[in-house]
Amino acid sequence: MSTSVLPQNASMLTLPTDQVRAILWRFDQRFDLQMLVQSARGVARGTVARLVAAGERNTHDWTPLKDEMMEAFDRAGLSAVFMEPEEGGFIAGPKNLALALTAFELAWVDGGAATASLAGFLALSPIHERGTPEQVQHYMSLAVPPQPGEDRRPWRGAFALTEPIPYVGVDTGMLSGKVRISEWNDGEEPRLQVDKRGRFITNIASANFVTAAVNSCDDRIKGSCVIILEETDEGTFDAGTPTKKLVHQLSSTGDPIFNLKVPASRIVGGYTVKNGVIVPNFSHGEVIEAVFRRTRVTVGLLTAAKLLSAVEPVIRYQRGRFRGAEGARPGSVRYERGIQQREDALHRLVDVWACGEAAASLGFAAARLFDELDPLEKQKDAILQERGIAAGRTEMKALREVEQRAIEFLFMHSNDPRRTEYASDPLLQFVLKDAEANVLCPATKLWNTGHGANLMREAVSLMGGYGITEDCPGFLANKWMDAQLEATYEGPEAVQRRHLTVTMTGDVFLVEFRSWIGAMRRIASTRPGTGACTLASAMQMWLWTLTHLQKTTDADGNKLYQGQRQGVTFAMADALCWLLASRAQILDVIELERAAASDHSLADSLPGTLQFLSDLCHVQAADAAGQVSRICAELVFGYKKHPSWNDAGCSQCFSADELEEFEQTMPGITAMVMDVLKADGTHPAKAGPCATCGRENDFLQLQNKLSRCLSGARLAKDRAAETVSTVMIPEALDYPQ
Ligand SMILES: Cc1cc2nc3c(=O)[nH]c(=O)nc-3n(C[C@H](O)[C@H](O)[C@H](O)COP(=O)(O)OP(=O)(O)OC[C@H]3O[C@@H](n4cnc5c(N)ncnc54)[C@H](O)[C@@H]3O)c2cc1C
Repeated sequence: MSTSVLPQNASMLTLPTDQVRAILWRFDQRFDLQMLVQSARGVARGTVARLVAAGERNTHDWTPLKDEMMEAFDRAGLSAVFMEPEEGGFIAGPKNLALALTAFELAWVDGGAATASLAGFLALSPIHERGTPEQVQHYMSLAVPPQPGEDRRPWRGAFALTEPIPYVGVDTGMLSGKVRISEWNDGEEPRLQVDKRGRFITNIASANFVTAAVNSCDDRIKGSCVIILEETDEGTFDAGTPTKKLVHQLSSTGDPIFNLKVPASRIVGGYTVKNGVIVPNFSHGEVIEAVFRRTRVTVGLLTAAKLLSAVEPVIRYQRGRFRGAEGARPGSVRYERGIQQREDALHRLVDVWACGEAAASLGFAAARLFDELDPLEKQKDAILQERGIAAGRTEMKALREVEQRAIEFLFMHSNDPRRTEYASDPLLQFVLKDAEANVLCPATKLWNTGHGANLMREAVSLMGGYGITEDCPGFLANKWMDAQLEATYEGPEAVQRRHLTVTMTGDVFLVEFRSWIGAMRRIASTRPGTGACTLASAMQMWLWTLTHLQKTTDADGNKLYQGQRQGVTFAMADALCWLLASRAQILDVIELERAAASDHSLADSLPGTLQFLSDLCHVQAADAAGQVSRICAELVFGYKKHPSWNDAGCSQCFSADELEEFEQTMPGITAMVMDVLKADGTHPAKAGPCATCGRENDFLQLQNKLSRCLSGARLAKDRAAETVSTVMIPEALDYPQ
């Protein structure tokens, strides 16, 4: 194995270029996506930036200028990214990465603009994922922007799940929206009466159609469904009052009221009639699950874009901070470096940058994974249908058998003759990728937006008072606040944590995770500067802790790792996200080194860029290790009772006399003993004797190792900080402020 030797003094001279980004996020071979990025960027840094600068965020009403922004999306092709070529789109095949890149570019300037673009796709997603072929064809072609010369306005859509309190929020099972039969004449299609009130529904001001979640309140309709409502349907289609948002004001949000009669053919995915009862082919829960597992990844990328977009404005502010002052003459350190003379300012910016890189890496990895999963899922559905296996419990049972083969495959030796057969089994590949996707999606949404919002605050603070003004370059204060919506939108953090606590303990995922630890160690042996070894040790600690918690009880004998115990399960979910983000970041840098080696145009800049991005990986890995170590230690020890100075506690202690005697035969023992009782029974002034450890000793060994694994992390941070203080940035921000 060859060890990559980077020149020790390689320094990154400019910010990572588009070419570097395309390699890192694996679209360097996709010309269509590179063009899409340029189109989205043009609208974001042109139309959208001008709207923000003109104060359009100061009103929550839907204005003509905001409407024009939607038209700019249409003209740039952004409204057609979701569609197939035969529906009027221009990207063939899965589109998760395409949507992610579009959203990333828009959110680089404004999150509301990004959501305005995404919410239309969210409205179409139930139809795309579970709709009948007729529904798909009909609504996609209505929503696609007109071709040149075509005289029509594209349809806009909204997705209505959330309802006024006390209904849907985290618990999507509680619906007050109702559907019942209004007319059902023999031999005719039933007509349905839909009553739904929505809360916080995006795009509602311009929506021509809505996909709404409703429950049956009629014995002749089974369960729940998602139903398509159109503005011209008979009855009330009222956009309601606009929400007084403090965030994302470039998209419209409101509390609509629907009271409409629609044909039963609007049930997403269709229905069958059994014994005089309409049975929707998909419940609202099944539709929503298929939708959110993809769209939440894109939301996570909105916050990643914000963090990375903050780097350049902060550098510019820090460097220019003292220019114009009497004592700061051109050429002086104070003039040239400004606040960047100070280590803390640089280190904090390195933290923001490292987090942004990790968040982007995690989000794009998840988007790419869904691009791989989509065709496999279709293949899986076709195979199971051919075998007469229906969706639901029988499918789960069939897939459980495949899971066993998948685990066998993961344990297989590289030269096992069965590998080729297993590797080409679509069901097996589906199970593997599905297990990973079920973890990466909620992790992206949870970590990118939640931790990302915290670091956006840090970015704002680096701009001082300017940071919390409307004049702040890069609209950083808006982005800070917007990040909080991203943490809430499409299910707040509790939803993502709840999801993770189930999927991250799946057998297939845990075997995959174990193999990732080995892979990180192998990376570390050739690229020690990436922090991969630190990360591998932290991953090992997480796995050990999970196994420990799953079979341990608290001081009162109650099980620790169980559904209701969010103090344990949610904390472990949080810890895992740190690891996944750091891993994705390291893998991207390794890919850059591999792919760019054959790209001569990058030859000069590559060593410096690699050195810097590796240092950021190391910084992030050390942060992740610290978080995991803290969370795991608290869970491993926090549910044990602290010993007291009672009989049981004191029985673990030495008396001073005893110790003196032992010292004769075991010299030095006194130095190792923690708690000694004096002859008069008095004890050291503290809470009780220190806790003794049984099985937890293994944890302490892992923690000890992990601490030592941090060697070099701060050196990497110093090096990264040095680069931040010298890297060239453009003269002016690339969009108006
Ligand atoms: C600007 C904006 C746009 C939106 N757009 C849309 C849209 O287009 N369509 C749509 O359908 N909805 C939309 N929403 C709604 C959004 O998806 C919900 O607000 C979000 O899912 C959170 O639900 P909630 O507000 O009811 O929060 P709650 O469910 O009340 O959550 C409040 C807090 O309690 C915690 N919590 C709740 N339940 C639990 C639990 N079981 N365990 C632990 N903690 C818990 C949550 O994590 C959160 O911190 C939008 C919201 C906003 C603000």
